Amino acid sequence: MYPVKFEYVRAKSIAEAAHLLEQHGDEAVALAGGQSLIPLMKFRLSTPKYVIDISRLSELSELRYGERGLVVGALTRHVQLAESPIVAEHYPIMRDAATDIGDVQVRNLGTIGGDLAQADPAGDWGPVILALNAQINCVGTRQQRTIKAEEFFLDSYTTALEPGELIAQVIIPAAGPNSGGAYMKLGRRSGDFAVAAVALQLELAGDVVKHCGIALGGVGPTAFRALQAERMMVGQNISEGRIKEVAEVIQDAAAPISDARGSADYKRAVLKPLFRKALEIAVKRARREA
Ligand SMILES: Cc1cc2nc3c(=O)[nH]c(=O)nc-3n(C[C@H](O)[C@H](O)[C@H](O)COP(=O)(O)OP(=O)(O)OC[C@H]3O[C@@H](n4cnc5c(N)ncnc54)[C@H](O)[C@@H]3O)c2cc1C
Repeated sequence: MYPVKFEYVRAKSIAEAAHLLEQHGDEAVALAGGQSLIPLMKFRLSTPKYVIDISRLSELSELRYGERGLVVGALTRHVQLAESPIVAEHYPIMRDAATDIGDVQVRNLGTIGGDLAQADPAGDWGPVILALNAQINCVGTRQQRTIKAEEFFLDSYTTALEPGELIAQVIIPAAGPNSGGAYMKLGRRSGDFAVAAVALQLELAGDVVKHCGIALGGVGPTAFRALQAERMMVGQNISEGRIKEVAEVIQDAAAPISDARGSADYKRAVLKPLFRKALEIAVKRARREA
């Protein structure tokens, strides 16, 4: 199917894009990689009158690592994160997610900002940035503000972004010296959206867990942090008993629905092995054994 007729505008600056989006309100939409928007427009599930192309705004394209962490411009494409040596070294959890998003075309064109703004409950970047305790820098016509990852997703396909507001960057805090993480996603096929997913990032002090972020995808209206599970990990040795208890709590925290990807019971059941595997890999990475 063809999209409904629309007017295309290539924005020359963030300010221009924000202004146009605000001016046209519900009738306008930003275009980044188009990997969610274009299919929606073709199915006429999205029928904007104005498509504001932000994909060439270099201000939104930086990928930089420093003392304060990783700055990921909203237009950073999945493939760049999959292939970045900095990401591989400091945030392998992000590489896990990036390498298994969609197919080659989706990874070459799709952006982290578009993925987060789309807020698909089974999207891959949501759980990862939650587990990493990231922040999202946003720009609008009147203000710039920072939204914590845990306050960003309001509902399925709904975020805290105001009309006319754009994601500018995702800020990932610096990873401590004995940190490691992993993202485990079960899809029906390679590169498919998650049936269920667990993102886990931890920092060890010896054998004790110093910090831990755990977030789930595909098992609720939004990606969300498993806060009780995180609390049960911190200050503890990782014993078989503790793993069993935390896995139980993770399963209880999930609120999946039955759909084409699987029954609610199935999605809940696969969280336990996904959590175990994510923890095993994260610990190995924190100890530099993997
Ligand atoms: C075949 C296929 C398989 C897929 N598989 C997966 C998968 O496994 N995992 C996964 O997570 N996703 C998957 N996706 C979805 C897709 O990868 C992401 O949602 C996509 O990358 C979105 O980024 P984009 O740059 O293409 O956004 P676009 O399609 O350009 O935009 C998506 C939405 O975000 C808004 N937007 C874009 N950038 C910004 C910004 N900077 N600030 C504010 N709003 C913005 C747009 O206005 C639009 O509403 C798949 C898509 C397809 C077509």
